[in-house]
Amino acid sequence: MSATSVHDVLVLGAGPAALSLAVAAAERGLRPAVIAPRPDAPWAPNYGVFADEVPDVPRAFVWDRTRIVAESSHDLQRGYANVDKDAFRAGLLARLHAAGGRTIAATAGDVVHEGAEARVSLDGGETVRGRWVVDATGTNTPRIERHPDPGPPHCQWACGIEVACAEDPFDPGEMRMMDFTPAPDELSLPPTFLYAMPRGQGRWFLEETVLTAPGRVDFALLERRLRGRLAHAGIVATDTGEPQEHCRILMNVPLPVLGQPTLAFGAAAGYVHPGTGYSLAFTLRHAPGVADALAAHIDEPVDVRYRAVWDAIWPPADRSTHRFYRRGGSLLAGLDGRQVRAFFESFFRLKPEQRSAFLDRTATLPALYKIGLAQYARMSWMMKTAFAVRYPGTRSAAGAPF
Ligand SMILES: Cc1cc2nc3c(=O)[nH]c(=O)nc-3n(C[C@H](O)[C@H](O)[C@H](O)COP(=O)(O)OP(=O)(O)OC[C@H]3O[C@@H](n4cnc5c(N)ncnc54)[C@H](O)[C@@H]3O)c2cc1C
Repeated sequence: MSATSVHDVLVLGAGPAALSLAVAAAERGLRPAVIAPRPDAPWAPNYGVFADEVPDVPRAFVWDRTRIVAESSHDLQRGYANVDKDAFRAGLLARLHAAGGRTIAATAGDVVHEGAEARVSLDGGETVRGRWVVDATGTNTPRIERHPDPGPPHCQWACGIEVACAEDPFDPGEMRMMDFTPAPDELSLPPTFLYAMPRGQGRWFLEETVLTAPGRVDFALLERRLRGRLAHAGIVATDTGEPQEHCRILMNVPLPVLGQPTLAFGAAAGYVHPGTGYSLAFTLRHAPGVADALAAHIDEPVDVRYRAVWDAIWPPADRSTHRFYRRGGSLLAGLDGRQVRAFFESFFRLKPEQRSAFLDRTATLPALYKIGLAQYARMSWMMKTAFAVRYPGTRSAAGAPF
């Protein structure tokens, strides 16, 4: 394809969202181009997912059991997987090229829409042309217009290390997804939990995580808490030399204005779950529908076609439940350590199918209210009062309707 050709879809970014959408588009007969500084660069995060949520993704590790420790210990009766991110990325790139898609090594700048086409400027000074432009460059993209958000930003913060342990600190056959056992320190931090992923032969990926909180959190303090926790438990752990994971995820990213001509996908579209910080499974689930819409509406007049694709990016049912999740995330962001443990104790006492529907974002809005009421009924009076006081203040946190 020549430099002056018009691509069907320009996908900005080369993370999981960009590549999964570009592949789905190419496999529907569109000609996409993925634009990123290094389209084949390794992905940084250590992605974890529930094993049943994305069965087709290559996995580095799979555990049959997932454990939560709140006020008591819970076996979620659900498997968990660590994505083999290199195999996943390489597989997506191979499928993209096999289906006729291409990659362009450049940083994307401004997008200018002219009639049924758009021009994206690249850092080298050139421009590329496309009939659709999808921004999948993450939450910080300047190209997507968002609804104004009255509330303060809430972020998830985590510091992760890989260590080799003389003896396994926990059961190596299960993933410890959230362990809220209080840490033995008085560091000035919001409540944290331990994420402990066994990686075989005594190796563990351990992460100290603030689930969601306003304000900044110091990674060095998180690391101190994590190492103090290990020392207190008598766990002898040596660093393996793998780079530390420093994780900051904006949890209440304001949602995009639907209908705008530059489309968004993945974290750029606000796909991060406001209560968990996860977005990978939600992104992969939506890629086929969005690609269907790109293919179906490409020849339609510009005044209707953007709205049609945004309806696939954010189907009406997901929009209504997203407001519920945002309110829930905002409630969580203000709880102290005792309240957080009590909150998750009542949540993980729900029926397994209710927990999964909430975490996976597969519940309808009425089902979510039912889940919320069932959890409320299981709460102590202390928690019921805390929630009753805080709930009205979360109205604005739900975000503008979109
Ligand atoms: C450390 C960490 C751990 C996480 N762990 C999990 C997890 O276990 N499970 C889960 O579900 N979610 C997790 N998340 C949340 C979320 O799934 C990830 O952030 C995920 O990477 C989002 O995918 P994405 O493709 O939308 O964006 P990103 O992965 O952020 O990809 C953005 C891409 O855009 C490129 N880019 C940026 N600017 C430009 C530009 N101007 N031009 C061209 N390209 C550009 C980048 O190079 C990158 O390729 C984690 C997030 C972080 C930060």
